[in-house]
Amino acid sequence: MPIDATQPYDDQNIFAKILRGEIPSKRVYEDDFAIAFHDINPQAPTHLLVIPRGAYVSWDDFSARAPDTEIAGFIRAVGAVARAAGLVEPGYRLLANIGQDGHQEVPHLHVHVFAGRPLGPMLA
Ligand code: AMP
Repeated sequence: MPIDATQPYDDQNIFAKILRGEIPSKRVYEDDFAIAFHDINPQAPTHLLVIPRGAYVSWDDFSARAPDTEIAGFIRAVGAVARAAGLVEPGYRLLANIGQDGHQEVPHLHVHVFAGRPLGPMLA
């Protein structure tokens, strides 16, 4: 079920539990601002999720409330994840779902990283 992205942060969401190490994940990257791990239901040969360490529901919440250092750190981390995974050539796709119509299901900001095959034109 897609979430209401205006809800307050719920620290029992599944990605908060992954951040705290309470449930397992296949981690591929971590730094002071973000962690990245494999999506449990991959939609491409490579499907990673990058999440900030801070408690933000969505891209909307993050862009409105996060300090500039966290925003810069997270954006740099997303790029670092892709470089560390060797995705820069031949390329990859980033996606963030926000709220009901964006079909966001987990209420902790996450950026999807898709790669490993030609991904075709963008689907709206
Ligand atoms: P979204 O629809 O943008 O909220 O995407 C949520 C993503 O989280 C989906 O692609 C799920 O497959 C993925 N997901 C849900 N639970 C887990 C989990 N425990 N570990 C890794 N990925 C997960």
